[in-house]
Amino acid sequence: MTKKPGMRRELNVVDHPLVQHKLSILRDENTASAQFRRLLKEIGMLLGYEATRDLALEERPIRTPLESMAAPHLAGKKVMLVSILRAGNGLLDGMLEILPSARVGHVGLYRDEKTLEAVEYYFNLAGDVPQRDVIVLDPMLATGHSSAAAVTRVKEKKPRSLRFIAVVAAPEGIEHFHDLHPDVPIYTAAVDRELSDKGYILPGLGDAGDRLYGTKPS
Ligand code: URA
Repeated sequence: MTKKPGMRRELNVVDHPLVQHKLSILRDENTASAQFRRLLKEIGMLLGYEATRDLALEERPIRTPLESMAAPHLAGKKVMLVSILRAGNGLLDGMLEILPSARVGHVGLYRDEKTLEAVEYYFNLAGDVPQRDVIVLDPMLATGHSSAAAVTRVKEKKPRSLRFIAVVAAPEGIEHFHDLHPDVPIYTAAVDRELSDKGYILPGLGDAGDRLYGTKPS
């Protein structure tokens, strides 16, 4: 993993060959929705694996078939995953495979096509957020408006820690996100070249939600 470490503006680019290979197939315009869904789920697992690398462990006694030992377990309350609707759900499925007891929250945001600003239409983050490490999920960190807006809302609930996962990020989105949230580490598989004037990531992979659910307008 290529890491720009430090407490502020932490950017983790997961350059693992499996992630890069899967991402290339995900980007390909010939990849159909069923395969896109499966790959996004797998990439979600692999990015989630990296993003949870520093979760705290505590030792608890267990018995193996041969003897007793103090075995490491995740400490305290488990993670909360927050999916930014709707494409975040494609990553969520993979994350839940490796964190089956995670709580799940949802933030619904749409992009105003004129201003490219995020407009919230749904927010559901129930329960004991202050005791949880929260990971916010959105496959595309494009302008950064919706990701940053979602993280602002999540912060109001005072999570124990906060991280953000995107599959593909634009330099402009990373900058905007970290201008507002320099304390939130980003985990991504790729930093692409730039944003188009319509706010799409180039070269990117198109509209992640449409590709995930086969809803490309005809
Ligand atoms: N959202 C997407 O799904 N794709 C982009 O390229 C930008 C935002």
